Amino acid sequence: MRSLAQNLPDHTLIVGGGAVGLACAWALVRAGAQVSLVDAQRVGQGAVWASGGMLAAGFEACFELEPEHPLAEPYAAFLRSSQRLWRDWAPEVQALSRQSLGYEQQGSLTPAFQASDRARLDQGEALAKRFGVLTERVDARTLAQIEPSLARGHGALVFPQDGQIDNRAMGGVFADAIKAKGGELIEQARVKTLLRQAGRVCGVILEDGRELQADCVVLATGAERFADLPDFARMTPVKGQMIRFERARHAAPKRVVRALSIYLAAKSGDRLIAGASSEAGLSSLDTDEETVLRLARAAQAALPGLEGASVVEQWAGLRPQSHDAMPIVGALEPGLQLALGAYRNGVLAAPAMAVMLLEALGATSRTAATDYFSPERLALRC
Ligand SMILES: Cc1cc2nc3c(=O)[nH]c(=O)nc-3n(C[C@H](O)[C@H](O)[C@H](O)COP(=O)(O)OP(=O)(O)OC[C@H]3O[C@@H](n4cnc5c(N)ncnc54)[C@H](O)[C@@H]3O)c2cc1C
Repeated sequence: MRSLAQNLPDHTLIVGGGAVGLACAWALVRAGAQVSLVDAQRVGQGAVWASGGMLAAGFEACFELEPEHPLAEPYAAFLRSSQRLWRDWAPEVQALSRQSLGYEQQGSLTPAFQASDRARLDQGEALAKRFGVLTERVDARTLAQIEPSLARGHGALVFPQDGQIDNRAMGGVFADAIKAKGGELIEQARVKTLLRQAGRVCGVILEDGRELQADCVVLATGAERFADLPDFARMTPVKGQMIRFERARHAAPKRVVRALSIYLAAKSGDRLIAGASSEAGLSSLDTDEETVLRLARAAQAALPGLEGASVVEQWAGLRPQSHDAMPIVGALEPGLQLALGAYRNGVLAAPAMAVMLLEALGATSRTAATDYFSPERLALRC
């Protein structure tokens, strides 16, 4: 009998080596498939590089997800499943690379800095119950004990299962792991268009004119415009600006802090990052002084130890947002799969999107999630 893994295409070509493309390549090589991944730049230099690297399934479900969204429930479950996958994947990829992925699961917390924020925490706690997210409500005294570097608050909601990776290391670590399993990386080669033959996609044409053949092409191009995509699968870029403070370890919280107007995460090498803006429809990677100043003030208000510390780096990245702000994973036409629309959670969601791709390819049994996030839901609506 043929095993499901044998249903995998002989050779898959992934376009885009961001959080999602790297995770898809890893899932495929791990399942024994032959994989090539092509990226216009070095892998891991897109939005994943610019991100906060937070794996905050709890916070995102309770404070960022639109509770009335028709896919709210499946999406919250999908984020949680990805958080669990990270726990398994991180040591596996780490073992195949000399660089550190900086994976940790210290939790995140949302403080109420104003008395009026407590009502928001109540709402978040109610949503946690609805979505099955593990939380812990702590009072002002406990908050001061567990995160003494934070400004005085009126309690907090803690998400003990949230965590983070060092997102700037993701490209290097996954590149090592994918190559160690026999995958091929083709960097600094931009794909111009798809190659079709006998009614199916059979490869890509690069901007320099080279053709790369494959049995299956996966588009994981993030927020970049890709000419061959139909309107319903086009991405809106949502720009996010972030900042980094110099030598700020002493002032840094232990957990990721997801306050209601700023987030803060301590990274390796004494980095403390804070973010982020959310500017829909902008595709320039410029930063502006007004936004940087607003982020810096909010960060200093949350962490008094940052008073006087200077912002040493500022940058921007583009979140890929689909029409319904949900991921799109699955077949678009014969020989072509999409892995797009990770929007504000692509680092967290990348493993679950990759597992969904395996399901869409028929390599593992299909779950309901694969139907919820399939491109068909959008095609049917347009
Ligand atoms: C400021 C900010 C903070 C964020 N914080 C978090 C966070 O804390 N946690 C979280 O989970 N998510 C976060 N995100 C979201 C996350 O970064 C994205 O959802 C994720 O990176 C999307 O992954 P992707 O692979 O789709 O796109 P990218 O990571 O952008 O990768 C796309 C890749 O495709 C390549 N590419 C595009 N077009 C072509 C082409 N034609 N040919 C070849 N290669 C091509 C690009 O070069 C790029 O490497 C944040 C985003 C921003 C901007």
